[in-house]
Amino acid sequence: MRVRFSARTHVGKRREVNQDAFDGGSRGPATLLVVCDGMGGHAAGEVASQLAVTTIMAEYDPSADPEASLREAFTTANHRVYTQGRGTMGTTGVAALFLHDHLYVANVGDSRAYLVREGQISQISLDHSFVSDQVAAGLMTAEQARHSNIRNIITRALGHSADVNVDIFARELHPGDTILLSSDGMHGLIEDDEIAEVASIAPLEEAAQRLVDLANERGGIDNITVVIAQVDELDAPGGDDTTVLLAESAPAHPPSSSRAKAEPRLNTLGLFLFALTLLILIAVGALAFLLPNPDFNTAPTSVATATIAP
Ligand code: CA
Repeated sequence: MRVRFSARTHVGKRREVNQDAFDGGSRGPATLLVVCDGMGGHAAGEVASQLAVTTIMAEYDPSADPEASLREAFTTANHRVYTQGRGTMGTTGVAALFLHDHLYVANVGDSRAYLVREGQISQISLDHSFVSDQVAAGLMTAEQARHSNIRNIITRALGHSADVNVDIFARELHPGDTILLSSDGMHGLIEDDEIAEVASIAPLEEAAQRLVDLANERGGIDNITVVIAQVDELDAPGGDDTTVLLAESAPAHPPSSSRAKAEPRLNTLGLFLFALTLLILIAVGALAFLLPNPDFNTAPTSVATATIAP
């Protein structure tokens, strides 16, 4: 399986510090991406989100069952944030794990995981928020929830208590699928169909930046974090492929592991395509040169031969 990703985080326009954190990288045959949105005064939010991201990335065990290992990594992150903050700090956590043509999403809080497939967007994670519960109970519409001034009250977080309930979702992946992870500083200001539209922008780096810019244009009331990943290829049939991760660009705050694991963008396929494009350009150039020549129809074979084997 081949996955590319690009990530951006921005403090926004109202906050003085960025309490969001993210990371991404290869873990054995898998690729793991994480976004955490911290909360707590006196820098506690930053500490909580960074500690949770680092713990989840480090504790995920690629040799174990993917769902069990993700759950365990989140449970350990909860334990560490809780132990360090004694309940005074917390963070959301959403992770996307790509392994053997499957996506596994783990979630606690109101950061989100979206899937965009053939232009259609669906939210994979469920928000653990007060307004989300109200909507589920039929006491509020989704539109009311969206504009509620208590929409940022979350009902589950990493680090708030000794135990945590982690939601896990699994999906089969298709080639071309786009997966987005975001903090509420992004998805709170941008509608789902707009996210789907921007997600189709290439390259991914530009899509991620556009979402950050759009959130800032609409006030940037919170820290903004976006991670966009695209599935380029599934595993070869019958093969035991690993997921190749291609970091599409250096993120605003490059995570250490993605920097270490990122592969060069120009791989074998890229070189082949580059050579093919060059050949086509030379052939087109040769044709353009020959077009005014009345003998064109009698001459192409020798020209083509000369181009391919100079
Ligand atoms: Ca936030």
